[in-house]
Amino acid sequence: MLEIAGKRSKNEIIAESTDGLWSESWREILKTAVRDVAELCRRLALPAGIASTVSAAGVDFPLLVPAPYLSRIRPGDPNDPLLLQILPRLDELEPRSGFSLDPVGDLAAQREPGMLCKYQRRALLVLTGACAVHCRYCFRRHFPYSDAPRGLDAWEGALDELQRSTTIDEVILSGGDPWMWVDDQFTEFVRRLNRLDHLRRLRVHTRLPIMIPQRVTASLLATLTNTRLTPFVVVHINHPREIDDDVSRALRLLVDAGIVVLNQAVLLRGVNDAVDPLEELCLRLVQLRVLPYYLHQLDRVQGSAHFEVPRETGQRIVAELLARLPGYAVPRYVVELPGAVSKIPLPLQVEFPE
Ligand SMILES: *Cc1c(COP(=O)(O)O)cnc(C)c1O
Ligand code: SF4
Repeated sequence: MLEIAGKRSKNEIIAESTDGLWSESWREILKTAVRDVAELCRRLALPAGIASTVSAAGVDFPLLVPAPYLSRIRPGDPNDPLLLQILPRLDELEPRSGFSLDPVGDLAAQREPGMLCKYQRRALLVLTGACAVHCRYCFRRHFPYSDAPRGLDAWEGALDELQRSTTIDEVILSGGDPWMWVDDQFTEFVRRLNRLDHLRRLRVHTRLPIMIPQRVTASLLATLTNTRLTPFVVVHINHPREIDDDVSRALRLLVDAGIVVLNQAVLLRGVNDAVDPLEELCLRLVQLRVLPYYLHQLDRVQGSAHFEVPRETGQRIVAELLARLPGYAVPRYVVELPGAVSKIPLPLQVEFPE
């Protein structure tokens, strides 16, 4: 035995330390994320002048971009659709009427700290404020995360409330990004949810499999497949170039494990506000057995006005997607309004025959 152990290749040992699926651990990759605009400009061969003109915008919500996503950005192109999603801009500091700190009424929907109940049957838990990336248009970029519970045991109050709320049959883990929690902590939380008899489904809203595909670990897959709750994972991809080989693999691992995987995208000016990139995104998703779920009209959060696409433009784009794609490949184009009983589908502009 000893001799066999001595003969193990270096690769096998590395694989073991990252639980067998990937050659690098997601936590190590996360540690090397770029947080400095000047460094970003250097790494992407962008004019150094960009760094000085945008730095003021990154004070409250600083640049954060992990290496796997960075590697998909085209160097030397200040208009790259992946770059625009993460690069702070001075436009973020311009106050714009109609754009607020809490555009979707999250605060009014808090039943317990960190627990949002807006829609029937579903409770959304803001597990953490942390993410692997800072998306400049994030609708929760001003959310008061410091008031929400931190760490496993701080969630007892919300879990007690869930226990009493027998009309809720689905828990949505959100944030921030719930998969910033390490596997042991996440697994223990799912174990506690498992004990609430009236729950049927578990949903995870995460961008981590896209930002750092290595996040899809064997133990995460085991946690999702060993629960009696039916697991759904909703990822967030806005542009087809976000999907490289590693992201494809991470998504396949989830789907092959029997998890329903859906995608939500946000319609963003300069990023995906045209038919071609969205058509390509939808086709790549369905090829991976990931269903396009929602295309969101931008939530009007302060600092994001420069990303807004007029609704009529979005409606025209979606009508053209319907003409080009199988029905299951077309996401629902929706807007979220405070106080509404669901996300609101935006109607297509169609002419009915007389
Ligand atoms: C978006 C959202 C949900 C989920 O809505 P679905 O239409 O089921 O995807 C649930 N709770 C809150 C608070 C939400 O914002
Ligand atoms: S990953 Fe989601 S929560 Fe995090 S910054 Fe991006 S949009 Fe916001």
